[in-house]
Amino acid sequence: MFKTKGEDVEEAKQLFKKLKIYSLLDLALIIPSSYNDTTLSTNFQLGKVGTYEATVKDVSVIGGKLRVNFILKPSGRYLSSTFFRTAPYHHKLFTVGSHHYIQGRLEEFRGYLQMSQPKSVKEVGKITPKYKTVLKESEIRALIECYINEQNLYNEGLDSKEVATLMRIHFPKSIDELYENGTYKNEIVAVMKFIEAYNHLKKLKGKRIDFPSLHALHGKIEPFVKSLPFTLTQEQQNVIAQIKQDLAREDRAAKRMVVGDVGSGKTMVILASVMMALPYKSILMAPTSLLALQLYEEACKYLPKEVKVSLVMQGRNKGDYREADFIIGTHALLYKEDLPDAALVMIDEQHRFGTQQRQGLEVLASKGGAKRAHIIQFSATPIPRTQAMMDSALLDVSLITTTPFEKDITTQTISKTDFPDLLTHIKEEIAEDHQVLIIYPLVEESSEVPYQSLDESRGFWESKFEHVYVTHGKDKEKEEVLLEFREKGNILLATTVVEVGISLPRLTLIVIVGAERLGLATLHQLRGRVGRNGLKSWCYLYSHAPANERLIQFSKTTNGFDIAKLDLKFRNSGDILDGTIQSGQKFRWLDMAEDEEIIQKAKNRLGK
Ligand code: ADP
Ligand code: MG
Repeated sequence: MFKTKGEDVEEAKQLFKKLKIYSLLDLALIIPSSYNDTTLSTNFQLGKVGTYEATVKDVSVIGGKLRVNFILKPSGRYLSSTFFRTAPYHHKLFTVGSHHYIQGRLEEFRGYLQMSQPKSVKEVGKITPKYKTVLKESEIRALIECYINEQNLYNEGLDSKEVATLMRIHFPKSIDELYENGTYKNEIVAVMKFIEAYNHLKKLKGKRIDFPSLHALHGKIEPFVKSLPFTLTQEQQNVIAQIKQDLAREDRAAKRMVVGDVGSGKTMVILASVMMALPYKSILMAPTSLLALQLYEEACKYLPKEVKVSLVMQGRNKGDYREADFIIGTHALLYKEDLPDAALVMIDEQHRFGTQQRQGLEVLASKGGAKRAHIIQFSATPIPRTQAMMDSALLDVSLITTTPFEKDITTQTISKTDFPDLLTHIKEEIAEDHQVLIIYPLVEESSEVPYQSLDESRGFWESKFEHVYVTHGKDKEKEEVLLEFREKGNILLATTVVEVGISLPRLTLIVIVGAERLGLATLHQLRGRVGRNGLKSWCYLYSHAPANERLIQFSKTTNGFDIAKLDLKFRNSGDILDGTIQSGQKFRWLDMAEDEEIIQKAKNRLGK
């Protein structure tokens, strides 16, 4: 259908578009939802669909229903069948003495074989795959027949077992070689998982575009590392070593993402990278003025004195950025026309930037025409290791999964009956000059949410405690409220959307109302607000369903990477989430929570 003429190829392209597929393996991975098997049955399997050779013995109409009795070959047994929905052609088709291959579910009633509404099939011995797609059966089948063949599959880099498996799925010789107990056999599933991972990685890899770097960077980090008041953790050292390799390349500018939980020590990795870039310049963009300022202060504190650091923010600068070795700033950097060219461009907390700002950074990095600055991004949103492996086809990914200090946070689910104890605990913390954060699901009352809102409960807290502050995502005075709370507050009432940009070192207790309604990533972010300064802290998950398995599992770990993995597991099991987590790639066969080994194998096949 598609091979012969040019316009047929065009037609095939249109169909690919309709199917939203982009590679040959995408097509191969569209598998039949069922098979129509017209292989003649060799025995009588009751309850199963079978195909039998038969001759019509007699025909009658009883109560409006067509009744046809057959004699089966070669056994000579009788089989009676009833047609509940008849059309004129049924009467023409099943005339006495006519010969058929009938197909239907075989039953037995009082010793008589029966089949209701059998089909008369024209050709026996054929297994026809049935595809459920947006295309017509004939169209999808034509595509498969045209493109799915051994040669094309080998060309995609599959091995003989994988090719054979796909060929069996699309062109089966028997159903038994595919199915066991009505589902695909384990060995087939294993191969399909691999092909799915391999296809995904291959497509991503095809999208990666690399440029030569402006400069190969070889600056020494030892003076900086030796001067630190602590030893870098093994993971910090590993990431720094990876970056060292990236930056030393001239043929390819670095494109790396460093993912590490809040407090995992990413700033040290940033500073080490600045050292490697010397004598060339580095730029770092941060999402808020407060963060930029904090990074500036840390850079001044930890980098050797001869490294010139400057800060660029809207309206105010520190140091002369035209002279600096290391320029730190907010997105105000993107609008500075006389910003010097940098050999290394970094972005901190990249998850908090919009796409546009990230693209702005790409522009900063591509001032050198065909050559590009090295780019390193930092993210504090832990992702499952499997996701990192997948993403790394597009850009290199490093994970920092441990923190230099274990935070001491006790997490517990509580419900209504625990409320008096909670009040006591809150009073104790406040008496210690610590602070409390209470997160409500909504600002205003809603019949859809079975918990109190911020507005409904503030009166209660204000009557019981002094220095209660209230803010939420849409609050215009949020920054001021937070700053004032940091100095004077006891209790802060807020909603989940509140972005606490500043660190609140005295915060030791957080209550999350209606916790089961939130995704694990959100809960993790919220819990990360307490215990910033190593103070013993508590996270109470207030819920009408305190036995919620997700909450219980969450209570057992504070490691963001474990939580990302847990999140995947619960997502697979269909738990409802609040949508704050990026919805990952959906796979038909692969289980991102379990199939790390298979993804690794697919990566190895594709090579570096
Ligand atoms: P992140 O940016 O990943 O959230 P930071 O870089 O701000 O984390 O580090 C958190 C804290 O840990 C900082 O006070 C930092 O000085 C400290 N720190 C970083 N690395 C180490 C280390 N190897 N040993 C001890 N403390 C460290
Ligand atoms: Mg940081």
